[in-house]
Amino acid sequence: MTTTSSSRSGARIERLALSRFTTLGVGGPAEVWFVSDHAQLHEAMQAPYRILGGGSNLVIADDGVPERVIRLTGALAERDLTPDPELSDEEQLVTGWVGGGVPLPGLIRTLQKLGLSNLEGTVGIPAQVGGAVWMNAGTRYGEMFDGLHSLEIVTPGEVRVVTPDDLPWGYRDSGIPRGHIVTRVRLKLRRSTPQEVLEKMTLADTARKGQPKMKTPGCAFKNPGGVSAGRLIDEAGLKGTRVGQALIAPEHANFIVNLGGAAAADVHALLDLIRGRVGLPLELEYELWPEAPLAGLAADGSGTGGEQRAASTGTL
Ligand SMILES: Cc1cc2nc3c(=O)[nH]c(=O)nc-3n(C[C@H](O)[C@H](O)[C@H](O)COP(=O)(O)OP(=O)(O)OC[C@H]3O[C@@H](n4cnc5c(N)ncnc54)[C@H](O)[C@@H]3O)c2cc1C
Repeated sequence: MTTTSSSRSGARIERLALSRFTTLGVGGPAEVWFVSDHAQLHEAMQAPYRILGGGSNLVIADDGVPERVIRLTGALAERDLTPDPELSDEEQLVTGWVGGGVPLPGLIRTLQKLGLSNLEGTVGIPAQVGGAVWMNAGTRYGEMFDGLHSLEIVTPGEVRVVTPDDLPWGYRDSGIPRGHIVTRVRLKLRRSTPQEVLEKMTLADTARKGQPKMKTPGCAFKNPGGVSAGRLIDEAGLKGTRVGQALIAPEHANFIVNLGGAAAADVHALLDLIRGRVGLPLELEYELWPEAPLAGLAADGSGTGGEQRAASTGTL
């Protein structure tokens, strides 16, 4: 049974299984804060919190997490693609605000129909805009920072608008400290044609052909020293290995899939098995909750209590 309540500023609060928000379909309960404006977000950030995007890079424990889990909804999940007349011209278009809670796949499809280029290389990434920007998600055909004009970032103390030049961003890393929430972005797009954008999307899509179509949080491990992690797992004879309802995908050994009703413990067991069998140290691609560092205020309300991403400078 779920209980719903409202915070002082009007955020909807529900205790929910996080499995419904993850692409793996795994994750126990937490107090979920659905925030639709800055006042609600500010209130939600007054206790230890985690920000959840599309849940496409997460393995969340079966016991859930004790912190608040913030979801961006309402105005923070809307998109305004109207060209800014002062910043747009015949070649380039700068949009209005696109909410961090906007699903990336739908946005990419719309941009293709409008013949707007720069972000089509991210096709097939089942993230939300905020999560994809925070990770600078992408493929060899392009990444989020190819199409960003500016970003609004909220911390427990302030709201700031920055440009990519203000951030130490790099490969799969925005340089934004953990727990700083990407609430909205403005996109910088090149005017092209729907056909040309579609052709580039098809290239990026084709590269995904071998990936499993089942519930998964994407690639399990980074490629160590440029060697394919999938090949190493395959060579260790682990393709198709199953623990409970979790399976090392027969199509691609670097993907763990949920056959239906898998537990986080099943996924952890497979990750441990792979690490034990593959001769090289393997670094995890996805985040494990609650193991991943926590964001926000300490339980007693003091300090930020949040570790920062290794590659970030810790400040904006
Ligand atoms: C089938 C599949 C294919 C994939 N392909 C790719 C790929 O080609 N390239 C690639 O880079 N990734 C890929 N991924 C991984 C994943 O989609 C990306 O890592 C993506 O950036 C995660 O975004 P999310 O919104 O789902 O974030 P979540 O998984 O919800 O969260 C991941 C992290 O981002 C933080 N976060 C979420 N929202 C925000 C926000 N608004 N502000 C600040 N921090 C936030 C969370 O706190 C967490 O630390 C794939 C995943 C799947 C399941």
